[in-house]
Amino acid sequence: MKEREIKALYARIPSSTCKAGCDKCCRNIIQFSPSEEAMMGGYSFDGKCGHLSGGRCAVYENRPLVCRIYGTSELLVCEGCKPERLLSEEETLELLREYNKIRNFELGCEIPK
Ligand code: SF4
Ligand code: SF4
Repeated sequence: MKEREIKALYARIPSSTCKAGCDKCCRNIIQFSPSEEAMMGGYSFDGKCGHLSGGRCAVYENRPLVCRIYGTSELLVCEGCKPERLLSEEETLELLREYNKIRNFELGCEIPK
C-alpha cells in the first residue's frame, strides 16, 4: 500500500472551505484507491457517503483525494468553495496522472516506474 505517496499528493492540494451546509459532493459515489479506503475506514453509500454525519465529513483528515481536489482546480471549479488558490490545469493533470498511477498499482493494474 502507498499511503505515504498518496499523502504527499494530498499535501499539494490547496486547502479549501466549502459553503456552509453544502454536502452536495458527499451525495455522489466517489472513487478512491485501496489505501485510501483503508485510511478512511471503509466506504458505504446509501444515497450519501456513510461518513457524512450531521452534514460534516466524519473522516475529514483521512478523506480521499477526490474529496480534496474538487473546488481547488481550474478544471474542477465549485461556485461554493473558497480555496486558498486554484491548481492550474497543468498541476491538476500531473497530480491526477500520479494519483492514477498509484491507484492502478494498488489495484494490481500497473507497476509504477
Ligand atoms: S466542494 Fe462545493 S459542491 Fe462540494 S460540498 Fe463543497 S461547496 Fe458543496
Ligand atoms: S469521505 Fe467525507 S468528504 Fe468524502 S464523500 Fe465521504 S463524507 Fe464527503
